[in-house]
Amino acid sequence: MASRTCEAETRYNPRSMPIRDEDIITIKAAPMTTSEAVYFPSIIKGFGTTMRHFFTSFGQGHTSRTLQYPEQRREHYDPEHGGLEPSNFRGVHRLNRDSAGRVKCVACMMCPTICPANCIHIDAAESPWDDREKYPAKFEIDELRCIFCGMCEEACPVDAIELTPLYDVVGKSRQEMVYDKNKLLHVYDITIDQKPM
Ligand code: SF4
Ligand code: SF4
Repeated sequence: MASRTCEAETRYNPRSMPIRDEDIITIKAAPMTTSEAVYFPSIIKGFGTTMRHFFTSFGQGHTSRTLQYPEQRREHYDPEHGGLEPSNFRGVHRLNRDSAGRVKCVACMMCPTICPANCIHIDAAESPWDDREKYPAKFEIDELRCIFCGMCEEACPVDAIELTPLYDVVGKSRQEMVYDKNKLLHVYDITIDQKPM
């Protein structure tokens, strides 16, 4: 019985089926016209586009999307004028605290499981508190590997991890950009007014 199943899988596995000669279509590129062969019309068209952007970018004033950062910041403008909406912007992470000031995370491992960049690392340990079984003894996010997709905050069952409106994240080394539990809790402390839970 087991061998019949194995034979059937082999027979219907598309990777093991050879491509028939009659299924192969050969497509030949159309020959270029004389004007295409000398590239001249395309060069003129390209210059035209460059000059159009050159002249139309003058005199745009406040409608320009270029900001004089850091004096001007994206949060000072609405999204239609190059700004950001703090309530749904996906910047650097924070670990939220509960009403007692403790880390809210219950170390369920949902966020590292769902993370497509594999940049969340948690060591779960027995909780020192009675209201939960586990807590994160270690919680790290590599902000350089993160793609800021927001999947971790979507997956969290207790709203412990969130992305904040902070986007000017800097570090002098790769290690500085690996945010540990204390740093993530600190981000919560400084962003709670900007993005209340
Ligand atoms: S935002 Fe996406 S990539 Fe970044 S830690 Fe969360 S799940 Fe991973
Ligand atoms: S999903 Fe939430 S509770 Fe679970 S490990 Fe991640 S931050 Fe902690």
